[in-house]
Amino acid sequence: MKTDILIVGCGVAGLYAALHLPEDKKITIITKDAADKSDSFLAQGGICVLRDEGDYASFFEDTMRAGHYKNNRESVDIMIQNSRDVIDDLIGYGTEFEKKNGEYVYTREGAHSRPRILFHEDETGKEITSHLLETVKKRENITLLEYTSMVDMVCEDNVCRGIVCKDAGANYYQILADYTLLATGGIGGLFKHSTNFRHLTGDALALAIKYGIKLQHPDYIQIHPTTLFTRKEGRSFLISESVRGEGAHLLNSKGERFVNELLPRDVVTEAIRKEMEKEGSEHVWLTMAPIPEKEIISHFPNIYRHCLEEGYDVTKEPIPVVPAQHYFMGGIDVDAYSKTSMEHLYAIGETACNGVHGQNRLASNSLLESLVFAKRAARQIRDTYEVLPQREELPVMPETYSDCTEQYKKMVLDAIEEEKIKNE
Ligand SMILES: Cc1cc2nc3c(=O)[nH]c(=O)nc-3n(C[C@H](O)[C@H](O)[C@H](O)COP(=O)(O)OP(=O)(O)OC[C@H]3O[C@@H](n4cnc5c(N)ncnc54)[C@H](O)[C@@H]3O)c2cc1C
Repeated sequence: MKTDILIVGCGVAGLYAALHLPEDKKITIITKDAADKSDSFLAQGGICVLRDEGDYASFFEDTMRAGHYKNNRESVDIMIQNSRDVIDDLIGYGTEFEKKNGEYVYTREGAHSRPRILFHEDETGKEITSHLLETVKKRENITLLEYTSMVDMVCEDNVCRGIVCKDAGANYYQILADYTLLATGGIGGLFKHSTNFRHLTGDALALAIKYGIKLQHPDYIQIHPTTLFTRKEGRSFLISESVRGEGAHLLNSKGERFVNELLPRDVVTEAIRKEMEKEGSEHVWLTMAPIPEKEIISHFPNIYRHCLEEGYDVTKEPIPVVPAQHYFMGGIDVDAYSKTSMEHLYAIGETACNGVHGQNRLASNSLLESLVFAKRAARQIRDTYEVLPQREELPVMPETYSDCTEQYKKMVLDAIEEEKIKNE
């Protein structure tokens, strides 16, 4: 199969890039699962925006401080400067953010020195991504293939010519393209406890390793301090940081506070782990008692509902919480336009690393970063478009890929471990 531009993944990064690519190009998007099964749909807290010029310096500083000053300063500047443009686009697609008396309401999360986060209840990701998806489905030049997984890339002399994929009927075939964008999200599926969808296993990273495409900081992995403690298998349910931003407290088993809840995620996670170790417990507690009941139900309806289903009424009692893998700051190394070290290959969203987050992501910066840099990739492809003379489509041998999942997982986990050892 031949397309002009291929996008692997349909979270915010893949969808938004598709909407900014030329409408006279044939665009194919593939996704491993159903179109609404991406982490983008799960985002709860919100999306950061530069409220006014007066906030630039503190937004920049908050992002840098959370990232332990390991951030790429140029990327941080680009993200902040382009934030209003992205929000305007999202509103144009029909996304609604919380308003009071006709004015937008801003919330805050840990490590933000002032409220600058737009939100839609506690389902901001669903609100944003469903409107992007709806808009994509209306574009005649875009084809979306669900339950279709990238299992290999077609590369020659450091040029990407497309991918090999496997569809729902277990058919393997090539999709050749002038440009390929990897938008495969995070790596939570590699970990036992993670807030991510289980099918997000860092496949693009494994293929990057296979073809010598440069990675950056594969050991920069964020653990979220507060997910609902459960003994059930599967994805960990996130208790958004904005719950703490609105006043919730962390408590040990004696009902005592033991950390400033608004410190950066890695610091709070460390404090929780120490407290659990000290007490020999499997979790700590989070109480929403300082937040008015009306506010809990209107701002956090999803969390309220989910906890009720699990047997906890957050308006009346504390809930058990535990840290879990949440976000990947490292990834496929890209420049300021999301271009990888391989020609005709871009990487966007969580699977890419442009250094914006440094060693630890500031809350609610990832949807924004994914969108800003997806648009820049699309614009660069549009402005420099080069048709790639393609080779003949080659037959694909299914047996070559039949058990690549475990092999790819191992490749990524090994790369993480190697980087950790290198930096010790
Ligand atoms: C519970 C939760 C809450 C969050 N809350 C917030 C928040 O409030 N604010 C914020 O800014 N960020 C938040 N984040 C982070 C944010 O949601 C993600 O970083 C962001 O959505 C990533 O977008 P993406 O497009 O890169 O990837 P995703 O949205 O994860 O999409 C990845 C896509 O790639 C596809 N894919 C993967 N592998 C393959 C393959 N081999 N072949 C084909 N397709 C493949 C998947 O099927 C999927 O369509 C949260 C994350 C989680 C998990």
